[in-house]
Amino acid sequence: NGSAGTEQAPSITAGTAPGFPPFEMKEGGELVGFDIDLFEAVVSETEYRFDGWSEFEFDSLIPALTNNNIDAIAAGMTINEKRDQTIDFTDPYYSSDQAIVVREDGDFSPGSLSDLADRPVGAQKGTTGEGVVQDELVGDEISENQYNAYDNYVLAIQDLQNGNVDAVVIDVPVAETFAKNRPVEIAFVYETGEKFGFGVRTDDDELTSALNSGLSAVRESGRYEELTQKWFGE
Ligand code: GLN
Repeated sequence: NGSAGTEQAPSITAGTAPGFPPFEMKEGGELVGFDIDLFEAVVSETEYRFDGWSEFEFDSLIPALTNNNIDAIAAGMTINEKRDQTIDFTDPYYSSDQAIVVREDGDFSPGSLSDLADRPVGAQKGTTGEGVVQDELVGDEISENQYNAYDNYVLAIQDLQNGNVDAVVIDVPVAETFAKNRPVEIAFVYETGEKFGFGVRTDDDELTSALNSGLSAVRESGRYEELTQKWFGE
């Protein structure tokens, strides 16, 4: 709260897409995760006040941002050229590759993308994992109807467990988390060298630079390190 005579700091909201552990998930009805803690820590280093979270399916986050329903996205979102045409990103705060996840029973252990030939494969709509499936597999190793697109990765992993797909393409740290809690495992990693950033509207340069300064402050204070310890045990 601004004190008398000073302008009150603007307040912002943020959007996320739970079901992407340990970045964002629901625990006992509560939204928790690395992105949640990190984003709130970053905002607390700025002049902005934080007005809370809204939850969306992943592929609705960018429209929600550009329609002014939210002011920022914190959702393990990869900075890439396509998205950069519509929104801006802060500096990167995490790195990832894609994991090819299979059932733990050992019946199917692919070692490369070509081993997925003629297999049903799943990913979450609008993700870079979906991009790998579309660009590297569909029309080549697998047919279009062998790609199963899910609203969220929890449903994709569930369908993998049920045997409706034989592999799911998903970010490595999230694959590792699912592998700890469910009967699935990483068969191999497909290197994409992705970097996650917070999404901001292109006309909101002030917020983008404030979040970048906040991110530096959170790294310098040791808070970033604490949060990676807490959520990834790194
Ligand atoms: N990092 C991936 C992407 O940006 C997946 C993000 C997610 O599912 N939350 O597309």
